[in-house]
Amino acid sequence: MNQNQLKELPSVSEVLLECKSTKSLNNRYIAYIIKSELESYRRSAKKGILKLKRAQITQNILWEIERSTAPNMQSVINGTGIVLHTGLGRAPMKETIAKRVAKRVSGYTNLEFDLPTGTRGKRQDHVNGLLSALTGAQSAMAVNNNAAAVLLALNELGEGKEVIVSRGQQVEIGGSFRIPDVIKKSGCILKEVGSTNRTHLKDYEKAITKKTGMILWVHTSNYVVRGFTHDVSLSELVLLGKKKRVPVVADLGSGALVDISEKGVPKDMLVQDVVKSGVGLVTFSGDKLLGGPQAGLIVGKKALVNKLKKNPIARAVRCDKWRLAFLEESLRSFGDDGPSKDNLTLSLMTASRKSLTKRGKTILSHLPKKTVVTLGITLLESEVEAGSGSLPEENLESMAFRFKPKGISASKLAAQFRAGETPVVGYIHGHTFYIDLKAVIPGQEKDLTGAISAI
Ligand SMILES: *Cc1c(COP(=O)(O)O)cnc(C)c1O
Repeated sequence: MNQNQLKELPSVSEVLLECKSTKSLNNRYIAYIIKSELESYRRSAKKGILKLKRAQITQNILWEIERSTAPNMQSVINGTGIVLHTGLGRAPMKETIAKRVAKRVSGYTNLEFDLPTGTRGKRQDHVNGLLSALTGAQSAMAVNNNAAAVLLALNELGEGKEVIVSRGQQVEIGGSFRIPDVIKKSGCILKEVGSTNRTHLKDYEKAITKKTGMILWVHTSNYVVRGFTHDVSLSELVLLGKKKRVPVVADLGSGALVDISEKGVPKDMLVQDVVKSGVGLVTFSGDKLLGGPQAGLIVGKKALVNKLKKNPIARAVRCDKWRLAFLEESLRSFGDDGPSKDNLTLSLMTASRKSLTKRGKTILSHLPKKTVVTLGITLLESEVEAGSGSLPEENLESMAFRFKPKGISASKLAAQFRAGETPVVGYIHGHTFYIDLKAVIPGQEKDLTGAISAI
């Protein structure tokens, strides 16, 4: 402990006395900021690494208070190239759609109200028809996210019973979502079959007993097992399930509704194909390849979906009016000829190198020559991932700005971009900083030009 350094810490009231910008902030929030800042300075002092003097510490805390008058969540330019970037909010949506949705639902809306009869309506009805039609399923529902969808399906069909899963499909998605843990938390007993690389139909067959609640099939969407492998196909599992009267549930993860491989996005398993295989239920995310809001979508046999709707967990993980309205908009963006321009996520993913080159050149032409030279900016071809565990092995074609400035490291440059008025999040590869254009939303070019010029 370093007493001299601890003595440099101002008191809460001392900082409060210096603080002038109290108008736009709640006083309790200001006190909260001061205390948590002081706490971190105290930790440094205890370690003996606090280099600052009292006046500077006070000043830093005042700046922190000043900064906190602006909203925490702010608009960011995604220069990582990863369209489905979980850290940056996953699927982006068009501002025009957000405005449209805000107009319809910011006040009151017919969320659970049937206007023709004036009686209580069902919130699931706002998306059930569209989702069923697009996926070819008998029925559909939406919940908070796909993790919740899996939890709900497991609890309803497998509580107190055994859930059979292949050892090769015991996926971890990230953020502590692991299939074995979710099975346990939903009150089911995990019954593992097969091995990491090979699982056969007879493994499933042998595992089915009176205690079996369901067979869970998981799309290993974020990794690939290669070499000496064997999987049981969904249709084989469906046949087995029919024979033994055990429901089969598929956790599909990404949930692509269209094949856009001709536009350069490799084909993932389509929801409608999984439905067609005859499984009882399919679950997938709203904010991955669908390009919608965070949501968990459950489609499949009507009798099973109806059972899930009555489970108390469905109430705990239900969607609010905003999410359902955004989801409806996203589902409506899928026309006969594929996704429309309204689906921003898929338009970003399918943007060609040619169009990205054009946008990149426009940005370069609006930058002062001096900036281009001092920052050593070049536009070159790049390859990016889709993100969020979607299409793990595939790369999408893109274009990126490479920065080779003199006298400043890549990490310093990256930090400067993040600290700008409109923060830009790029990436560092081999000690070099890049801003990829794949996930830069059309319309952000001016802000990006401004951000580069400001460095
Ligand atoms: C992404 C994913 C999940 C989790 O979905 P969220 O919508 O993020 O909750 C579950 N299972 C699989 C296979 C996934 O890919």
